[in-house]
Amino acid sequence: MATLNANVDKLNTYLEQFRDKGILNQIAGKAVPAIAGAKFESSSPVDESLICSVARSTEADVDAAARAAAVAFPIWRDMPALERKKILLAIADGIEARAEEIAFCECWDTGQALRFMSKAALRGAENFRYFADQVTSARDGKNLASPTLMNVTTRVPIGPVGIITPWNTPFMLSTWKIAPALASGCTIVHKPAEFSPLSARILADIAADAGLPAGVWNLVNGFGEDAGKALTEHPAIKAIAFVGESRTGSLITKQGADTLKRMHLELGGKNPVIVFDDADLERALDAVIFMIYSINGERCTSSSRLLVQDTIREEFEAKLVERVNNIKVGHPLDPTTEIGPLIAREHFDKVQSYFDIAVEDGATVAAGGTRVGDEGFFVRPTLFTQATNQMRIAQEEIFGPVLTSIAFSSEEEALQIANDTAYGLTGYVWTNDLTRALRFTDKLEAGMIWVNSENVRHLPTPFGGVKASGIGRDGGNWSFDFYMEQKHIGFALGDHKIPRLGV
Ligand code: NAD
Repeated sequence: MATLNANVDKLNTYLEQFRDKGILNQIAGKAVPAIAGAKFESSSPVDESLICSVARSTEADVDAAARAAAVAFPIWRDMPALERKKILLAIADGIEARAEEIAFCECWDTGQALRFMSKAALRGAENFRYFADQVTSARDGKNLASPTLMNVTTRVPIGPVGIITPWNTPFMLSTWKIAPALASGCTIVHKPAEFSPLSARILADIAADAGLPAGVWNLVNGFGEDAGKALTEHPAIKAIAFVGESRTGSLITKQGADTLKRMHLELGGKNPVIVFDDADLERALDAVIFMIYSINGERCTSSSRLLVQDTIREEFEAKLVERVNNIKVGHPLDPTTEIGPLIAREHFDKVQSYFDIAVEDGATVAAGGTRVGDEGFFVRPTLFTQATNQMRIAQEEIFGPVLTSIAFSSEEEALQIANDTAYGLTGYVWTNDLTRALRFTDKLEAGMIWVNSENVRHLPTPFGGVKASGIGRDGGNWSFDFYMEQKHIGFALGDHKIPRLGV
């Protein structure tokens, strides 16, 4: 309790910066209100109290931001790589210096527990360091000689890009997109989620303090249907890096069609974790619990469908129930809290609606299935058993601390159930049979698969999904491929024969 009180006191000092002015946009190096003066209110999911007002941007603000990004583009693109690298490293230093402030604000803004958010800020710094190290080689190309030509390739930044992020781990996800965009030499307009604007403002301040030239990093706050839509339609914006729901991904693809936007879409998931009876069941249990109940289950890579072999189902589910009932739901700034409140009332209502849907469809609520307290958006970690893969709780992304357990009897059946979904982001396989693991992962429809492991992100590996979970990959060179254009130049080696017409 003493630590929680001390943390709340600290939070209040960190929130001071937002109280009077609210959250402003950042356009052409200046913190500015929305041009029309509109604002919306941001409140905390912990107790629904007002945090501050936020600029509510429209097309005019997005236009100003996109123009600023277009003006700054040649300046940033042509700055020597080592200077750009230095600035990205200074941003990483700035994030580390303000890591606690970022984590506390993120907890209050999103309801995520401090035990996870304290690391998210540092991972954000790591993203900047990782991509800073590649600035000097990002434009390197190939020499593809032919008999008559020396063909060389080079990569050039695509131009100003729009970055649209969700509310689940806003800080980390924003750095994940912005760091490679800047390392490529692109300028950016960032539109953070309306539910979680705090850390994006801090991040823009850190970038300005690190010496990033004005207009390289612009921030427009506001709602998806106006600010977000205008960004996807703006002709000066050459590409959109989007993280959010699958149906929004489809919408912005349509919105970007007239200006032929390049799109990178990181979307939803209904990811399976498959536990065979030959697995290390204690480790599997830890991973199953971690991958759905950490980060409030508001995690695209969460393993929200447990496929458990019928020979071990009863024992495994019994252990699961015991552990799930023990998970600590509480104030996000209490270091012992494991699950905080869900982001907002509408999401809270959506998650709770599945408690009834599960029963209506014939599943059993084996743990949880209720809200906690009568203030804030807290729900008990929930486990549904006796489920089939046709039920809505097995097909729809609930995006909360809610796990659906489905029994299977054979490897073939497990594979069929695992792939029977619109999504294909991640999969987790638990078995000690190496050949089965090879066979199974080969056929599993997912962009990322872990065997005998929870999701452990390694920045050089490709991150992204298949089917309704997305298009495109992040990480290592895959990020540069998105934010840059390949260019081919052929130099004649001599007087090769040129076809002559009209002679
Ligand atoms: P969302 O799609 O509602 O919103 C995401 C962002 O898009 C927000 O900034 C929103 O304002 C904006 N937006 C909404 N409508 C828009 C429009 N018409 N044009 C332009 N922008 C628009 O998603 P959310 O509820 O904020 O986030 C949760 C979702 O994100 C889940 O489905 C989750 O799986 C997904 N997600 C995916 C990944 C991944 O890497 N695949 C990571 C995190 C979250």
